[in-house]
Amino acid sequence: MDVTIEQLRLLEELQRIEVESVRIENLLKKVTDKTYGIDKKYNSVELKHQELVDELDVFKDDYQQLDSYVKDINERLVKNAEYLKTVSTQKEYKVLLRETDENKKKSSKMEDEMIELLDQIEEKEKQVETSKNDLFQLKTTVDNEKQGILDESVEERQELEIIQKKKDEITPSIDSKLLKIYNNLLITANRRAVISLKNPTCTGCFVTLPPQFFIELRKGGTLVFCPQCQRILVWDEEKAEK
Ligand SMILES: [Zn+2]
Repeated sequence: MDVTIEQLRLLEELQRIEVESVRIENLLKKVTDKTYGIDKKYNSVELKHQELVDELDVFKDDYQQLDSYVKDINERLVKNAEYLKTVSTQKEYKVLLRETDENKKKSSKMEDEMIELLDQIEEKEKQVETSKNDLFQLKTTVDNEKQGILDESVEERQELEIIQKKKDEITPSIDSKLLKIYNNLLITANRRAVISLKNPTCTGCFVTLPPQFFIELRKGGTLVFCPQCQRILVWDEEKAEK
């Protein structure tokens, strides 16, 4: 296949850009991983805070339930007291009195539980408040930390944008057949499909090129592959040892 030196130079430039893109993308991936780790740490603290809030809610619900039970019992006690005045038989009187007695005991037991719950609620509220403040402070620290990490990689992001733009510019100028050969080679050539030579050794596989082959390569004008690793070889006049 005939190929101009300009085409080969463009291909080399494309390769250089792609290698650099991969390097920057790997670096940015590390940045993302770091911020992800920070988020994870924050989320676990937030989860613990939420657990405390949930526990407080359970205490409050329990208290409300007991409160409503006690109110019911007390209403019944009032009714029974009224009813007691009207009963006529001894038997009925005894039953009512026993019921009243039991209800009073129940109500008193629940009231004791409510007092205990109030203590627990107060204690839990303190814990929630402390945890809320801690979480707020952590949020500020985490945000600053993340911003710092992102700020450090601003240059890389800009560089990546610039070289990707350059890649978009030069790619259409490369012969599509040549581009296809290059892209196929990338898969097997460890991101080095084009090798620029300044002496008769392929720096991709370190084979010494036969003299006749090397003369052909120096002449230029055709696409030449390394006989051993199949990479595209380009004679670099400028870098060559004179
Ligand atoms: Zn080679």
